[in-house]
Amino acid sequence: MASASVLGPEQDAVIQGGKLVVRTRALNAYLVCELCNGYFRNATTVSECLHTFCEPCILRHFDSGSTKCPTCETDLGADPFTAIRQDMALKSLVERIFPNAGPGTEPSRKKKRKRSRSKSTATAAGAGAAETPTNDAAAAAEAGEPEAKRARKLENKKSAAQSGRVGDVSVTTKYLGMDKSALPPNVSVSSKGIVTVDNVDWVKFAVHPDPNDAATLALPSIASVMQTKASIDIKRLAKHLRKKLCRNIPGAKIEILFNGEVCAPEFSLEFIIKTRWHSRDSADVLDLTYRMIQS
Ligand SMILES: [Zn+2]
Ligand SMILES: [Zn+2]
Repeated sequence: MASASVLGPEQDAVIQGGKLVVRTRALNAYLVCELCNGYFRNATTVSECLHTFCEPCILRHFDSGSTKCPTCETDLGADPFTAIRQDMALKSLVERIFPNAGPGTEPSRKKKRKRSRSKSTATAAGAGAAETPTNDAAAAAEAGEPEAKRARKLENKKSAAQSGRVGDVSVTTKYLGMDKSALPPNVSVSSKGIVTVDNVDWVKFAVHPDPNDAATLALPSIASVMQTKASIDIKRLAKHLRKKLCRNIPGAKIEILFNGEVCAPEFSLEFIIKTRWHSRDSADVLDLTYRMIQS
């Protein structure tokens, strides 16, 4: 489709054939990180003021010692890491509009800037996507479709041993605590203990029943140390535990906590490690607590 000819020289958006065609430039105010001038990679929002940045950019900002929002300088207190949330709505919007600039790919910044300055256009499915990007994306994220589907497809392609399903034991365990200089070329271990094999991140974690909750303690026990993809989210882990522990109990759900804080369903294990676990040694296992709740 010759989308370049759809927009007049002074037009930023037009509806054509039931689709909203928007000039990329007009979207940038919503989708560009102030810290790196690139499109959001894993869009992450400061809860208090709702300013959004790339996850790696805002983590680096806090790592450097600042406790303030880079945009409005709101002070986020002694532990600013707990004041940020992944913004799944914006993340999925960026992925849909710029599939090649999405999280994980990290194209060069120069390239991305060039792209954002160009007069190219993006076609957003569904009218209104560009005018109110967060609303449209929120609806999509709520439906949970594009991401979940993609994740499922990807997984089906992998062999059973590599599927990353919660609970799978994987060969990557052996790389934790290993001398980094001796690692094979396709393996790396971050200072936070995230093992990367062929560009997929893995973490080791353990789940323990809440010692203060009798109902949870009465559930069957579960293998405590597990290995999984770092991208697995709390929602999926909770679902897995529910299935293992209390599928026959009506209305039972599992809630997962780290350091006494209930983890939001959209938090990935990697996000918890990066934002909530500051004293970690790379050989440590992420210790999570679970609790049964009944509605
Ligand atoms: Zn950034
Ligand atoms: Zn702010």
